[in-house]
Amino acid sequence: MTTARNYSISVIPGDGIGKEVMPEGVRVLERAASLYGFSIEQTWQDFACCDYYARHGQMMPDDWKERIGQPDAIFFGAVGWPDTVPDHVSLWGSLLQFRREYDQYVNLRPVRLMPGVPCPLVGREPGDIDFWVVRENTEGEYSSVGGKMFPGTPREVVIQETVMTRHGTDRVLRYAFDLAATRDRKHVTSATKSNGIAITMPWWDERVEEMAKNYPTVTHDKYHIDILTAQFVLNPDRFDVVVASNLFGDILSDLGPACTGTIGVAPSGNINPDRTAPSLFEPVHGSAPDIAGKGIANPVGQIWSAAMMLEHLGEADAAAAIMRAVETVLAEPGLRTGDLKGKANTEQCGKAIADAL
Ligand code: ATP
Ligand code: MG
Repeated sequence: MTTARNYSISVIPGDGIGKEVMPEGVRVLERAASLYGFSIEQTWQDFACCDYYARHGQMMPDDWKERIGQPDAIFFGAVGWPDTVPDHVSLWGSLLQFRREYDQYVNLRPVRLMPGVPCPLVGREPGDIDFWVVRENTEGEYSSVGGKMFPGTPREVVIQETVMTRHGTDRVLRYAFDLAATRDRKHVTSATKSNGIAITMPWWDERVEEMAKNYPTVTHDKYHIDILTAQFVLNPDRFDVVVASNLFGDILSDLGPACTGTIGVAPSGNINPDRTAPSLFEPVHGSAPDIAGKGIANPVGQIWSAAMMLEHLGEADAAAAIMRAVETVLAEPGLRTGDLKGKANTEQCGKAIADAL
């Protein structure tokens, strides 16, 4: 850990366009630091990428924790190169290691419609859609508890359990209510399915009600996941903070950004709210092998991730300024990248955002 307003950041560009958008994320971070009077100490890491795997037969060195040390945050690009390393190997060997080791129990994604980004939902304008999806990131439906009976026979039975703990559920609910309490609308929507999943989901609903008692200024409601996905598309203006279990959150946190346009602009945080270990910030998009090496990738997802990271570190003014700069640049066709029908390349777009700051 470093002292106040001097932040140590582990920079991991990863694969493909991760290597191209990362310098733009760092450019904007450095500019924000100089304008807002804090400093960023960067340590770049060459592991957690498929080049490292090609040389060493694993995604990260055995002593990766020692090499990373104790940074205030991890700034991540993208991982994966399916031609050489299967996706489950690259993902499990890198991002999921961080998530588990650093107990990043919240996955946080904004769903916000930005100027210049065509919205697939008819008639929606920037300002109409602005909410957060808070996903439980460590337990729930993604357990490895279960098994097969009579495999390969007509009597085959397959079981996989959902494991929810009071500790694991309450802490993500607390994060969602805390987040809502900081917002204008102060509203939490819980994703449930208590009409079909008879044990875990009614219990989840109870935990939501219990947690809500601690937040008299925050309103809350719940939707079954099937209706909720429809509401994301039909009435996205209804939401402020949406909290969900691991599986439901996984679905919603892809659906949300898809409702607000291109994958190239969306950011995400894997957050340890207790700050017992670093949180990790990365764009939602992957390594995009089809456009890698051309210098045309949209850097906004990486830059927006930088803003989320600064918010987490306590530099809210700088984070807000980055978002204003992003909006200014996205509104200008000449400064947008090709995926948004613009003319700029990755570097030109990144520089324009740094200058707009
Ligand atoms: P993951 O690695 O998470 O599995 P994916 O393979 O599902 O990701 P991505 O790599 O994110 O998908 O990209 C899907 C497609 O979207 C890419 O092939 C690319 O054409 C486009 N794309 C993704 N990110 C960007 C970006 N930053 N700028 C422009 N186009 C992008
Ligand atoms: Mg991919």
